Amino acid sequence: MIKAITGTKDILPEDIQKWVYLENIVHKVMNNFNYKEIRTPIFEETKLFKRGIGEATDIVSKEMYTFLDRSETSITLKPEMTASVVRALIEHSLDKQQQINKLYYLAPMFRQERPQAGRFRQFHQFGAEALGSTSPSLDAEMIIMAYQIFQKLGLSKITLKVNSLGIPSSREAYKDLLRSYLADKVNDMSEDSKSRYKTNILRLFDSKDERDQKIMERAPLLLDHLDDESREHFENVQDLLNKANIPFEIDPKLVRGLDYYTHTTFEIVSDSVGAQSALCGGGRYDLLVKEIGDRDVPGVGFAAGIERILLACENEGVLPERENRIDYYIVRLDKELNNEVFQIATNLRAKNQTVEIDYTLRSVKAQMREANRLGAEKVLMLGGEEYERGKAVLKDMNTGEQTEVELSEFLKK
Ligand code: AMP
Repeated sequence: MIKAITGTKDILPEDIQKWVYLENIVHKVMNNFNYKEIRTPIFEETKLFKRGIGEATDIVSKEMYTFLDRSETSITLKPEMTASVVRALIEHSLDKQQQINKLYYLAPMFRQERPQAGRFRQFHQFGAEALGSTSPSLDAEMIIMAYQIFQKLGLSKITLKVNSLGIPSSREAYKDLLRSYLADKVNDMSEDSKSRYKTNILRLFDSKDERDQKIMERAPLLLDHLDDESREHFENVQDLLNKANIPFEIDPKLVRGLDYYTHTTFEIVSDSVGAQSALCGGGRYDLLVKEIGDRDVPGVGFAAGIERILLACENEGVLPERENRIDYYIVRLDKELNNEVFQIATNLRAKNQTVEIDYTLRSVKAQMREANRLGAEKVLMLGGEEYERGKAVLKDMNTGEQTEVELSEFLKK
């Protein structure tokens, strides 16, 4: 038996309505903020992600689906979208056509993570990127937009955390401070943290290891060592969030895994989905475009995981009832009328009606049962002496009322 690859999931018809429901909310909110949808290929040249995400990150160092294609080009299935959006922006000179590009997406992503609840190898994200301005208004807009999507979904057990990573110069000075604080403690830390001490020291705040956490509890915080510009930027963002009535917590330990962030970072976490609680994360990345495209274009964005959000919606019981709408089920009373039933169904379908018929020559009773099971609004019964008189019986399944209709008239409507 061939099965789906570990960490991937089929989205079956019974689940699709949830996805479409969420997708519609995403499209609506993004449109309200005048973000335009962008779709990029599912794979890119590996070096785009190496440069764009950073060699020392978990994604690049151990999670990417990378392979050589037949022409020996190193290809990677996209593990996140920002690098692809930036590549497309530069490649098509979108930044030259207008000062600010506000883009959003819905797309599958691929990371070879250890599969567990809430962690998949193919998962789906929606997200947005605003490129072309350093304005803190765009940081706030990003956060508000993400938050509004969660609000529209009806999620209430969520917390928005924000932090500032400042600009590189103050961050580098702070990293030195952190390095010297940890110099005589790093040997007592986990193996992961020992290596991150050298490659990505901020990530030590992310460690789930108890010993590490104890040591990091007393570590100096970047937030206390921000330069004036960064502090002002961060205060402006907070002010805009307050004025928009968006509740948030400042989390000075929120560092996020990627290298390219500057200034604002944020995350929305849920209390209702277990250990993998991050539904959404993002921040400002004023240095990334230069890294990838040699052009100075500041940006800010976020990405949200659809599987986890739908799980949160399910656990909070906020998804709408599943709707299974069929306008007409046509019951065939005589076996000889098979083709006529098919023809009438085709006719009604062309008139935008959702129609189902029986394909297996079932009894009238079985067809009625099926019409019930499918939740058909109306049943059209074709056959008997009514059919010979050019008529059919129409049954309203909600009221049980039956009426005789002139077939030719009925089909003309
Ligand atoms: P990131 O791009 O790592 O900042 O992730 C953004 C969001 O994508 C997270 O908050 C999750 O909701 C979701 N996400 C990331 N990795 C996975 C995964 N392996 N499986 C499912 N969702 C994920």
